[in-house]
Amino acid sequence: MKSVDYEVLGLRVGLEIHQQLDTKGKLFCNCPTELSKSGQPTYEIHRHLQVSESELGEIDRAALEEAQIKRRFIYKGYDTTCLVENDEEPPSPLNPDAIDIALEIALLLGMTPVDEIHTMRKIVIDGSNTSGFQRTAFVASDGKISLGDNLIHIDTVCLEEEAAQKISEDTNGVVYSLDRLGIPLVEITTSPEATTPGQVCSLAKWIGMILRSTGKVKRGIGTIRQDINVSIAKGARIEIKGVQTLDMIETIVEREVIRQVNLLKIKDELRKRGAKKVKEVLVDVSEVFDSPQGIGKPLKNNVVLAVKLPSFGGLILWEIQPDRQFFDELSDRLKRFFRGAFYTDGLPNEIGDDQIAGIRKKIGAGPDDCVVLVVDEESRARSALNAVIQRANEALEGIPEETRRALQNGNSAYMRPLPGAARMYPETDVLSVPISGERLKKINSSLPELICKRKGRYVREYDLSDDLAELIACSEQSALFERIIILGVSPTLVAKTLTATLSELRREGTPVQHLTDDHFIGVFEMISANKMVKEGILEVLRVLANTPSKTASVASSELGLEMLGKEDIEKLIMQVIESKRDLIKERGTDAMQPLMGLIMERVRGKVDGKLVSSLLKEKIYGGINGEDRKRGMGQSEG
Ligand SMILES: [Zn+2]
Repeated sequence: MKSVDYEVLGLRVGLEIHQQLDTKGKLFCNCPTELSKSGQPTYEIHRHLQVSESELGEIDRAALEEAQIKRRFIYKGYDTTCLVENDEEPPSPLNPDAIDIALEIALLLGMTPVDEIHTMRKIVIDGSNTSGFQRTAFVASDGKISLGDNLIHIDTVCLEEEAAQKISEDTNGVVYSLDRLGIPLVEITTSPEATTPGQVCSLAKWIGMILRSTGKVKRGIGTIRQDINVSIAKGARIEIKGVQTLDMIETIVEREVIRQVNLLKIKDELRKRGAKKVKEVLVDVSEVFDSPQGIGKPLKNNVVLAVKLPSFGGLILWEIQPDRQFFDELSDRLKRFFRGAFYTDGLPNEIGDDQIAGIRKKIGAGPDDCVVLVVDEESRARSALNAVIQRANEALEGIPEETRRALQNGNSAYMRPLPGAARMYPETDVLSVPISGERLKKINSSLPELICKRKGRYVREYDLSDDLAELIACSEQSALFERIIILGVSPTLVAKTLTATLSELRREGTPVQHLTDDHFIGVFEMISANKMVKEGILEVLRVLANTPSKTASVASSELGLEMLGKEDIEKLIMQVIESKRDLIKERGTDAMQPLMGLIMERVRGKVDGKLVSSLLKEKIYGGINGEDRKRGMGQSEG
């Protein structure tokens, strides 16, 4: 597609951001919020999905679809999970630290917190919660963010429990890991007011910056997830889940717009062809394949079923997104339960021309019609073709509302229908929490400096370059950075150490996670007291990371990096002067430079060159006089 006019298309995008909080305990129990280190499960629980109509009230279409696919769930538990995660014990009260962080985030987003936090149950049907629902608590509403000329409203902030992590899935069931279940997270929902893909990206980045500014959210892959709601004026609301990198947001939105535009073109084409609703007539054409060869899958207990999609001829191959065709929209719908083979016109297959002609004749397909074949055990084959018919009929209407999952390249694939709205029920096992004015006042009075402001301050006050200021202001090390520079060392040196030097050590496989604030402070105390030169920082940190019980001074002396004391330097200078008396006599003040060179050769990295130079002068000439200074004696080293 050439240039796209998003305004004409009426693009509207909203974000739902899920960010894990860095609390000590989980939202409804005291289990740790780190994933199991061993990764070795200590127990296993098996459950089957049961959807009770009474519990659902109005039957949710997403739950209904899930329930039609019979599924088994297997949960892996650890020594770091408890009966709450197993859903064998009622939840503890809401974690107060998590509430405080959620309130802090809400206030930073200019939102109005509720007077009392009520926990609700949100039905989940994919098995990702052992209880069959996710607990969620509404914390604040009505915030806004200015992005250039655009004002984007932040609708809600909720506190939620993280779902269990899916480990594997096949047609028999889904395996989940329980260690992630219950980690507190905030869910931030914006209004669908972003109007270009670039603006969506800026919005996500800005909210991410605010979240990181608290210093109380988890960092790293998987700890923040963006769901993107995309619609164009004539299209439909599509929710794309599981976007993990900000860099992909723009492409994902662009490609969803392309998808909706192309699906609308297909609808127009179908209308032009006078297409009518596809009839649910499934024809058994197994007899055409009397020999099992030639159809990829042996027939045995399988049947070959066919359906005619009138007026769909050729449309199957229309491109929906780069590298995806309308065919993928159909086949996506089968993937969850269908194990058989799937064929349709125009796709490469092993079926002979005679057989195709036979099938077309049998089901009465004309040249404009499309034929879809499936090979599987009969009931699954029927379900598969019914799903194809349903999707084909939706194409006549335009674009079905769907929840989709983001693919690596920015495309997306079908997950399930967009859930209906009626999905929340009060959680009677968790007491509500009143939010006092005092609590809010206390949080409000100690709101953190935003990273964007911190960056500006680093440039202004510490003369850091723009890039370095950005790096350190965003990093988890910014508080440590400010503690270290009080020691009177170069801010640029400290910032580089906490960013570039650490990355270098990490790259070479040094366990930098063992380094503590005290290690860094120890290193810079030595630098500040002239007991170590900056060239030794990397080596000392490497030793400390590998043997965290050591101190910076022990590490540097073991490495022979400790600076020589004044006495040692004087001793060395005297030795050199003794051995070069002739030179001094001959060249006078000009001997300074070669002497300096000789000394530094022997002690480079362990002395401050300026100190050597002044001591050398003192020893040779008994002090500095104006004449010497003018001739620029001595070379500063270090
Ligand atoms: Zn627990």
